[in-house]
Amino acid sequence: MPQIIDGKAISAQIKDEVKAQIAALNTQGKKVCLAVIQVGDDPASSVYVGNKKKACAYVGIESLSYELAAETTQEELLELIRELNAREDVNGILVQLPLPEQIDEDAVIRAIDPKKDVDGFHPQSVGALCIGQPGFVSCTPAGIIQLLKRSGIEIAGKECVVIGRSNIVGKPMALLLLRENGTVTVAHSRTRDLREVTKRADILVVAVGKPKMITREYVKEGAVVIDVGIHRNENNKLCGDVDYEDVAPVCGAITPVPGGVGPMTIAMLMYNCANSVSL
Ligand code: NDP
Repeated sequence: MPQIIDGKAISAQIKDEVKAQIAALNTQGKKVCLAVIQVGDDPASSVYVGNKKKACAYVGIESLSYELAAETTQEELLELIRELNAREDVNGILVQLPLPEQIDEDAVIRAIDPKKDVDGFHPQSVGALCIGQPGFVSCTPAGIIQLLKRSGIEIAGKECVVIGRSNIVGKPMALLLLRENGTVTVAHSRTRDLREVTKRADILVVAVGKPKMITREYVKEGAVVIDVGIHRNENNKLCGDVDYEDVAPVCGAITPVPGGVGPMTIAMLMYNCANSVSL
């Protein structure tokens, strides 16, 4: 049986560490405050925002909530971001994506002060990651590195394959694995013979966005398989990009869905917020 990488337990551990860090900051008279902006009332976004606020309350981070109407203009949103950038009592700014179509997401991300960019999406944060300088790192890939390290999985020298090259998961994931001295390959929709590429992986990170696409034919025996995908199947049950039942018997370690990568994203957001005070 493979090692089951327990994202629920590891994320709880990280949140408790952040809670202690915030308590220590409080004793020095420092507070940590995250501003959370949601535009419109997309139900999935409301759930994510609610969970982020709950996590803030747990670790002792103050959260300011801005719920803007779906017809908010780009200029109105940018004005709010400018105000929050200028406020000394606000350490982090998070704009829940996706945004309504009248708003250019890139312009919004660029407007956030990089010192408050706790999602790690600003070009300056991404550039800093690329050249190995301090800065915020996108929460999901940062969480995956924690999952690997805290499960005792060595990255240095390993063949790492990332399926997916999105700006929020695939690309920063590849950069982080490289930073940890993995030998990294990034696969995507134009990759020729995906199976041949993924079969080389000691560590396979799957962020392809296709339910249960990765079956055992894609996986080397004994590999570590990290499943970033989240989908609801026909019975309304959560599943990932990896066919868990098929892959688990042949791999060495695997993240379940739910309870694997999912809980790490919010834990790392809390980690980024706590560290925003020192950036
Ligand atoms: P995107 O849709 O932005 O990216 C998907 C990537 O997969 C693209 O790079 C695409 O290639 C590649 N791809 C698509 N089809 C294939 C194929 N047949 N073969 C090889 N590559 C392919 O997704 P995200 O990165 O945003 O998210 C990936 C998954 O992770 C989703 O299921 C999402 O829900 C989940 N997710 C989970 C999070 C969590 O907290 N657990 C957080 C964020 C995302 P190309 O670039 O060529 O189009």
